[in-house]
Amino acid sequence: MSTQMSPKVHSFLSKPLQLLIGGEWVGSASGKQFETFNPATGAVLARVAEGDKADIDQAVKAARRAFESGPWPRLSPSERGRMLWKLADLLEQHLDELAELESLDNGKPYAVARVADVPLSVDNFRYMAGWATKIEGSTIPVSVPGDAYLAYTLREPVGVVGQVIPWNFPLLMAAWKLGPALAAGCTVVMKPAEQTPLSILRLGELIQEAGFPPGVVNIVPGFGETAGAALAAHPDVDKIAFTGSTEVGKLIVRASAGNLKKVSLELGGKSPNIVLADADLETAIPGSANAIFFNHGQCCTAGSRLYVHESLFDKVVAGVADAAKKIRVGPGLDPATHMGPLVSQEQLDRVSGFLESGEREGARAVAGGKKLGGPGYFVQPTVLVDVKPEMKVVREEIFGPVVTAIPFRDPQEVLPTANNSVYGLAAAVWTRDISKAHLLAGKLKAGTVWINCYNVFDAALPFGGYKQSGWGREMGRAVFELYTETKSVCTRL
Ligand code: NAP
Ligand code: MG
Repeated sequence: MSTQMSPKVHSFLSKPLQLLIGGEWVGSASGKQFETFNPATGAVLARVAEGDKADIDQAVKAARRAFESGPWPRLSPSERGRMLWKLADLLEQHLDELAELESLDNGKPYAVARVADVPLSVDNFRYMAGWATKIEGSTIPVSVPGDAYLAYTLREPVGVVGQVIPWNFPLLMAAWKLGPALAAGCTVVMKPAEQTPLSILRLGELIQEAGFPPGVVNIVPGFGETAGAALAAHPDVDKIAFTGSTEVGKLIVRASAGNLKKVSLELGGKSPNIVLADADLETAIPGSANAIFFNHGQCCTAGSRLYVHESLFDKVVAGVADAAKKIRVGPGLDPATHMGPLVSQEQLDRVSGFLESGEREGARAVAGGKKLGGPGYFVQPTVLVDVKPEMKVVREEIFGPVVTAIPFRDPQEVLPTANNSVYGLAAAVWTRDISKAHLLAGKLKAGTVWINCYNVFDAALPFGGYKQSGWGREMGRAVFELYTETKSVCTRL
């Protein structure tokens, strides 16, 4: 693979990139387009039709028609499962192309997209294909005196679903959201992030190739303030699922109040990564580096607060700093690259702002600490020490490759500190002591706790946040709480 775009991707990007509504690719009602950039160079990659409220209205209408009178919710669960499996096969067949699109649009290394983003998306569709035939109610014994009753529950699809996704794992976030919604028999209107619409548009073509009926999946690229807000507020959308910032999550909640649509949110984090005195450093050091530097720190689960027992502090910090210094930063399509650029100028400014604020408040960088010269939105992998709990870099989500390292004396002391955050998405503990690990796991206020590992995701494992990290759980069987209604049916015999 060279740093040049492949002919396949070039030809995809040369086509008009439009909205998918009711099974047709169409321009936006306003005729407007927006640009998507290559974050490694800042150059325009493609122009994409820009959907807004009018297009969201059309897409919701198409999804409503498909739900109320189209074949999708009426297909047998087995047929729905088969189609999801077929889509997974198609993604797998286009692995290279999808990984390249993801790398070009988001900036992540092609090699990473090829082993992580795309295969995890494939897995998710396959796992959810299996669930299509297993979404079941129960028979419920009722204790009403006198007569006999037969009572049971049905799990029905929630209806028309709006899905708003972020730019950090574009295809994978689409898969996490589409897989269960489709398995349950819902129809969908999806708005990709403005920074990364490309892989989702290619996914739309594969959805058509797989044979999904028109209107089952509608894709409306555009901006959050217009298309996203219209979807969240739409009176005919039954449920909205969102992944992104906590700030926008709160806007989604407010927008949803008009028709009290169901809401699920997967939001930010500031996850504590705790290295106890008896940790195996051979795994804890690379694991802690990976916890923050994977995907350039643009992970909602990023292990951005590193707490290390004082006896190991210098050694662990030196190890993570050494790993940071060895990371080769460059364009995602360059095979020598370990870490690509941040996704946008906006994110580069944001992360640089945090680095400056850390420096002003007295934090010291033992690795990195600066943005790199352009073109492209590159920043150095950074390890900060001499930080205080009240500093912005310790409290706020940076969403970049920046970790703050803080020593502690005993686990009693680190637990309240680790839990002292408005977020509660993930946490990790590194130790050889099984009891200590599980006692801490029970007390950490986080939706996921990793022990002697980090950023391990599986389609079968529920994922979501405590506190301001979100509402609801995606993946696993838990996700069907989000995409089904429970109906109780009670018969006097
Ligand atoms: P964001 O604004 O929350 O974007 C996420 C998605 O929401 C995008 O599709 C966005 O559209 C859309 N959106 C924005 N405003 C909206 C509104 N009023 N109504 C409905 N949808 C709306 O995130 P961002 O601005 O890209 O990144 C800012 C920060 O968010 C990051 O630095 C990071 O801290 C956090 N973040 C978290 C995650 C996560 O996985 N939890 C992912 C991404 C970002 P546009 O693309 O047009 O903005
Ligand atoms: Mg935004």
